[in-house]
Amino acid sequence: MSGRVGVMGGTFDPIHHGHLVAASEVAYSFNLDRVIFVPTGQPWQKDQTIVSCAEDRYAMTVLATEFDARFEVSRVDIEREGPTYAVDTLTDLTNQLSAEFNGAPELYFITGADALAQILTWRDHERVVELANLVGVTRPGHLLDNPGLADGALTLLEIPAMAISSSDIRHRVRTGHPIAYLVPQAVADYIDERGLYQVEDATE
Ligand code: NAP
Repeated sequence: MSGRVGVMGGTFDPIHHGHLVAASEVAYSFNLDRVIFVPTGQPWQKDQTIVSCAEDRYAMTVLATEFDARFEVSRVDIEREGPTYAVDTLTDLTNQLSAEFNGAPELYFITGADALAQILTWRDHERVVELANLVGVTRPGHLLDNPGLADGALTLLEIPAMAISSSDIRHRVRTGHPIAYLVPQAVADYIDERGLYQVEDATE
């Protein structure tokens, strides 16, 4: 084992095939042993968007990843009180994995490039950069400049499958359009059974 571990941070509301392709591509590009998906903490009002409860987002993430031996799901952000900060995610996982590796793991924090564009505003962002290499995944046609980090701290990767978006899936569910093949079937079934995304949100 190389000790290289991806940390895939996101709201995953819902997780979709773009996220899975992105994790797989980053694992390949950086020779990662595994990728740990970390759904963010308890629902909060985000840009006037109501976020589904953490347990629903966690369950969908487990369903989506269970057939890929490289993928795991962590509850560290769900179980920590208060808002989710990447510095806490990476500190908790470093502590957990250090025991397993008998030394510090090499972490790759993977998330949407849109989110990483704001990194200079994140709590303890200097520490975030110390704890992990940053990988921003972008949708086709969405170019993004380095937000002001040192050379080499951030890699941007374009992932064509990220044309799929969580907000489009929520909109499709609410308006009765199909989501087959955009999300794993088990996730589509879960959304249906739980009656998720029936209420309009501000991104629609
Ligand atoms: P977001 O604002 O909901 O998402 C921004 C964009 O990035 C969306 O287009 C989203 O597409 C995409 N995206 C989000 N996660 C992704 C992933 N893992 N892979 C590919 N694309 C992804 O971002 P967020 O979900 O709140 O935050 C993302 C991560 O950054 C989380 O781990 C969060 O804790 C961290 N973060 C930390 C701070 C901080 O420490 N202060 C602040 C902001 C974010 P989809 O909607 O299709 O996923």
